[in-house]
Amino acid sequence: MSDCLFCKIVAGEIPADIVHQDDQVVVFRDINPKAKVHLLVIPRIHVTGLNGINSEHDALMAHMLRLLPELAAREGLETGFRTIINTGKGGGQEVFHLHIHLLGGDDLPGF
Ligand code: 5GP
Ligand code: ZN
Repeated sequence: MSDCLFCKIVAGEIPADIVHQDDQVVVFRDINPKAKVHLLVIPRIHVTGLNGINSEHDALMAHMLRLLPELAAREGLETGFRTIINTGKGGGQEVFHLHIHLLGGDDLPGF
């Protein structure tokens, strides 16, 4: 997707503070962090959001979920972390390339 901000980060066309990448995902720090640690986990492929996934994405989704506790541990989030996936305009999604927010570093308030 040529006009997608996160595709441009995947392609290296826009700089980002990347903390992890592999054949399926790129993980970088949110430019406007909502907690001491605020990472975004995104797939390399363009998927608009949870509404855009199907059974072809099962392995990718499992990979993204399994990566979260590993990333949290690497960031020193021993006491826990929060994950958020905003879906669609009504869900507060602003960038329409699937991403999981990983937040922590403070004791986050109840949701
Ligand atoms: P959403 O509201 O779509 O769930 O979250 C989009 C997130 O992307 C926001 O937390 C926002 O701060 C972050 N973001 C937007 N533009 C950029 C950017 O250019 N670089 C980085 N690293 N994060 C961005
Ligand atoms: Zn994209």
